[in-house]
Amino acid sequence: MTNPFESAKYQLRRAADIAGLPDELVNLLSAPMREVTVHIPVRLDNGELHIYEGYRVQHNNWRGPYKGGIRYHQNVNIDEVRALATWMTMKTAVAGIPMGGGKGGITFNPKELSVRELEVLTRGWVKAMSGVIGPEIDVPAPDVNTTPREMAWIADEFGSPALVTGKPIENGGSEGRGTATATGGFYVFETLRDKLFLEPEMGTVVIQGFGNAGGIFAEICVRHELKVIAISDSSGGVYNPVGLDIEALKAHKSTTGSVQNFPGAENITNEALLELECGLLVPAALEAVITVENAPRIKAKAILELANGPLTPEADDILFEKGIEVVPDILANSGGVTVSYFEWDQNMKGEHWTENEVDDKLKVAMVDAAMAVWERKEKYTTDMRRAAFILALERLAEANQV
Ligand code: NAD
Repeated sequence: MTNPFESAKYQLRRAADIAGLPDELVNLLSAPMREVTVHIPVRLDNGELHIYEGYRVQHNNWRGPYKGGIRYHQNVNIDEVRALATWMTMKTAVAGIPMGGGKGGITFNPKELSVRELEVLTRGWVKAMSGVIGPEIDVPAPDVNTTPREMAWIADEFGSPALVTGKPIENGGSEGRGTATATGGFYVFETLRDKLFLEPEMGTVVIQGFGNAGGIFAEICVRHELKVIAISDSSGGVYNPVGLDIEALKAHKSTTGSVQNFPGAENITNEALLELECGLLVPAALEAVITVENAPRIKAKAILELANGPLTPEADDILFEKGIEVVPDILANSGGVTVSYFEWDQNMKGEHWTENEVDDKLKVAMVDAAMAVWERKEKYTTDMRRAAFILALERLAEANQV
């Protein structure tokens, strides 16, 4: 299945069938509530006027304001945004936060624009979305190629910090947002660890991606005495069966620009890294890296999806048959949107919580979500992805206003 929106609808239908949930619910959730396409004019540095296409898909708001990031990429298209918005509705429901699902994007290559052009385009998207987004309507956030800098421009253009999350702290951002995805993922892992039969001696971890999600997750693993035996970035990976020194690897990457050629470790390709024998495999970089082609060769005991959509539905089925547990993205990486919700809540109340307060609330939310997914998995004798979709559908059915 190559169309991501078709995959998302298939996942909804499959989960609803297992749990005996009504077709009507699936039909409602298979059609986003509102989709807006805008055309944003930008006067480029060379004097030319270029018109960019941007989107906001507001998938569902039964449980609260639409919530989801804005993606800047040359391949952004409406079906991708629809799928990402649908998964946000599922993710906010699994995390148990009172928000819905949405997603936005602009189709262009951000590497081709100057900072001034990027700012004009970002502010142009906000102007074009006037009346569509708002603190109590639809709250955007960062996604691929958008960062706290873009979020600060968006908040400033709109005139309210509560419009958007993922802002720098000085612009109303929350403590703990930068580490939330990895920290939340680790709380989920800790909650499920004994259920996944990952005994202490199986505590070896392989991570694809050394950025915000994967890099911070590696540091947390080391603090908890788990051995990170392989990790990669876009240049390739490094492998050491006795465990990598993550602090030293960070320093090596900042001087050489990549993790490769790290003293004492063996270079390894991103493809071979995924097939290593280990306790936990953590895809934390790209979509669709485990497919029908390489799934039969995966040897991890369990997979924690910090990336969005790293497994194709076909790979899911193969791994289920092999008995490899997959902790799905809508649970495993939901710490990010959970702290985004905390940021919005603080802005709405004019508060600023300490890092400890944020962390305590995040832990409660992640443990509750992981336990609720596990209960559905046992009840329906299914995998955790279907269980997570069932949980989300149950919570959405409760909030259904149709
Ligand atoms: P990031 O840009 O900080 O890091 C991405 C990492 O992936 C980098 O180390 C990069 O070198 C590596 N990478 C890029 N291409 C690669 C390739 N071909 N092979 C191996 N590694 C490659 O991004 P991030 O914020 O860490 O996001 C990673 C994933 O996690 C994405 O799927 C994102 O949607 C998901 N995610 C992130 C958050 C968050 O809060 N950061 C929240 C939810 C989901």
